[in-house]
Amino acid sequence: MTVSHILGYPRIGAQRELKKATEAYWKGEMDRESLEASARELRSRHWQAQHSAGLDWVTVGDFAFYDQVLNVSTLLGAVPQRFAADSEVAQGDIDLDTTFRMARGRAPSGTPAAACEMTKYFDTNYHYLVPELHQGQRFQLATQRLFDEVAEAQQLGYNVKVTLTGPLTWLWLGKEKGQAFERLSLLEGVLDVYCEILTRLAGQGVEWVQLDEPALVQDLPLAWQQAYERAYHRLQAAPLKLMVATYFGALGDNLSLATRLPVAGLHVDAVRAPEQLDHVIDRLGPHQVLSVGAVDGRNIWRADLAALRERLLPVRVRLGSRLWLAPSCSLLHVPVDLDAETELDSELTQWLAFARQKLDEVVSLSRLLDNRPTAEDEARLAAATRALDARRDSARTHRQAVKERLAAIQPGDSERRSVYAERAVAQRRKLALPLFPTTTIGSFPQTQDIRAARRAYKAGELSREAYEARMREEIAYTIERQDALGLDVPVHGEAERNDMVEYFGEQLDGFAFTRFGWVQSYGSRCVKPPIIYGDVTRPQPMTVRWSEYAQSLTDKPMKGMLTGPVTILQWSFVRDDQSRATTCRQIALTLRDEVNSLEAAGIGVIQIDEPALREGLPLRQGQWQDYLDWAVDCFKLSAAGVRDETQIHTHMCYSEFNDIIAAIAALDADVITIETSRSDMELLDAFQDFAYPNEIGPGVYDIHTPNIPDVEWMVQLMEKALEKIPAERLWVNPDCGLKTRGWAEVEPALANMVQAAEVLRRRH
Ligand code: GLN
Ligand code: ZN
Repeated sequence: MTVSHILGYPRIGAQRELKKATEAYWKGEMDRESLEASARELRSRHWQAQHSAGLDWVTVGDFAFYDQVLNVSTLLGAVPQRFAADSEVAQGDIDLDTTFRMARGRAPSGTPAAACEMTKYFDTNYHYLVPELHQGQRFQLATQRLFDEVAEAQQLGYNVKVTLTGPLTWLWLGKEKGQAFERLSLLEGVLDVYCEILTRLAGQGVEWVQLDEPALVQDLPLAWQQAYERAYHRLQAAPLKLMVATYFGALGDNLSLATRLPVAGLHVDAVRAPEQLDHVIDRLGPHQVLSVGAVDGRNIWRADLAALRERLLPVRVRLGSRLWLAPSCSLLHVPVDLDAETELDSELTQWLAFARQKLDEVVSLSRLLDNRPTAEDEARLAAATRALDARRDSARTHRQAVKERLAAIQPGDSERRSVYAERAVAQRRKLALPLFPTTTIGSFPQTQDIRAARRAYKAGELSREAYEARMREEIAYTIERQDALGLDVPVHGEAERNDMVEYFGEQLDGFAFTRFGWVQSYGSRCVKPPIIYGDVTRPQPMTVRWSEYAQSLTDKPMKGMLTGPVTILQWSFVRDDQSRATTCRQIALTLRDEVNSLEAAGIGVIQIDEPALREGLPLRQGQWQDYLDWAVDCFKLSAAGVRDETQIHTHMCYSEFNDIIAAIAALDADVITIETSRSDMELLDAFQDFAYPNEIGPGVYDIHTPNIPDVEWMVQLMEKALEKIPAERLWVNPDCGLKTRGWAEVEPALANMVQAAEVLRRRH
């Protein structure tokens, strides 16, 4: 019989219970016992959901108070010195507060220390804590939590399968600290502890352990490929069965490596890479189990059970009881329960499946394949087919006008009328800005008061008129402050925006919003991505009234503010019935209209933010160029409808440009503002080496800290920038938007920044 399981379940809880509990604990409003009790309660609820859906295994080990990669770091005793946890490690009992200090620098107990670095997990919006590795590092089993959780599930009577990040992916995600050395030199020490863990689990009666090795879908150096063989030859000695889980893409050139590993089972992603299924089966050992990731773990669409049954029947015939079924990856990346969405319209609801619904899909599919469907499975199959047919033909999904407009795009539509050098002349004449013009990235403090007004408006307690009047008041204040500070290119401050994607999604057709569709982003932080379900249109201008109003209050050239097409795409759940590129192009056309409307309304400077451009890069380098080509084209399509004298800005808040600098230049934005202050302007090297031709605003201060930057320090940073970029092409601005700061920090910081620009003007 086909075995059904999942790789992991969301841990935050349908009502974000874990978020609320951990935050209350951090604030001292909840004690340790109660925090542990809420965690236990959530685990048991999630196991219960898996069990009652009919899965053959209940997956244990996916729970984390903060992050599952951090869990493995503590399991291995990889706790940096500054957290002073040596005795806890030695006793094999790392305290929960130590884990929290590693994650966020502080906890209710213990001395604060710099938190570990955090970064995105593969191509997801989930962030993990980067393991800190140093030469000669020793490892030892340093927490009992995993074993306790296993015992907990067993006591509740469940059939337990354990999941854990695999040893090589853990090392792969880590970063060397101190003296340079080869990370793989730590492998043997890491494996010693994994062997111990596996032996302990076997002692608890665990039969299967799933080791997550998504690093196998990336380009691996030869030494790493060899390390995989070595590592799993060692681990096979463990007295239980191992399943190596790969996801987020195709195994590609690691396919024969993965199928050769001496493990009892392999999980592959058949959603992102359906074409690899037959190749994997051809190479599978005669006794190996294949877990097919058939239900999309990264998106919220209802599975096409009929199509899956047809596709997988031959696989079922070939593999017999060696076939397992699962979602493609952990369900961590989708919201918890669609049933909570009582306000989503019923048609759209029919098209969707969240984590809890995906459990049912996996179970029904396995019974359908075994030819022993229950009446419920049959009904589910029929309902899925009905819903998918409806979705395929729905007028909400397809709009003829959008398709026609897309088909009519000409290559020239993505190009400005003149080259940058000519535009720069026209812009200088029109805008008459001084050397080293000063500006900000867009947002000004989102005060409690602004948020309260928006909440009241959304709750129907504040009329639209009153709300908008309140926002205008805020905009007026922001303009007045900027004028007083002497900023050359003011912004309206984005007071009216809840979130840079949601704000646009709410005004575009083809987008839907959930009430509880939260997905963990990092720690207790969750995001609620919009759902792009249909062809995208802009029923009316989205930002024009606000920018127009702001412009009416000042003689300075106002900068209009838009979120770019790639960022809107990247931070949403997207359609699975057309390419990402097509959806992105549709969004780009609506933004093009918005850019043109802003220009027509007299806004001469327009910024199109693309902070997510880089994170859209595919996991395999070989696919980068294709992505960059359409991503860049979408940006240009939004920007290129304007006259030469209209200045297009873009903004990106990260500091790795080396490998994408050609694409950044290809955007052909007149001005790009970037995050640089923390890297001491070093990242401008990439721009210099590439002979980047347009204007750049390298951030002169870090907005993530409340510290007020001093004038001399910012002047010095700009002097460094001047060694690489000529004065005529430099702007002066902060690293990113100011929405998380208070006015008490923003005003003196910007006053100093303006002074720094004045010093520079005198000198150059
Ligand atoms: N314009 C946005 C702001 O200033 C940009 C935010 C971002 O880069 N993430 O907040
Ligand atoms: Zn930014």
